[in-house]
Amino acid sequence: MPKYYVNRQAQASGEHEVHKADCSWLPSEENRQYLGVFDSCRAAVREAGKHYSKVDGCRWCCEECHKR
Ligand SMILES: [Zn+2]
Repeated sequence: MPKYYVNRQAQASGEHEVHKADCSWLPSEENRQYLGVFDSCRAAVREAGKHYSKVDGCRWCCEECHKR
């Protein structure tokens, strides 16, 4: 199962993006927060929601969870 991270920096639209560990758009180490190992991006987005009120899946690595 993949490891997931959330970007500490919000997008211009206000969402914090969730990424898999192997994504090319994974933020640098100081700009990301480790969420855990999940079987789906939905579970990772739910976990990220405990830290940030607005979260979204990355359009490249978490397409099924990408909304904006
Ligand atoms: Zn990504």
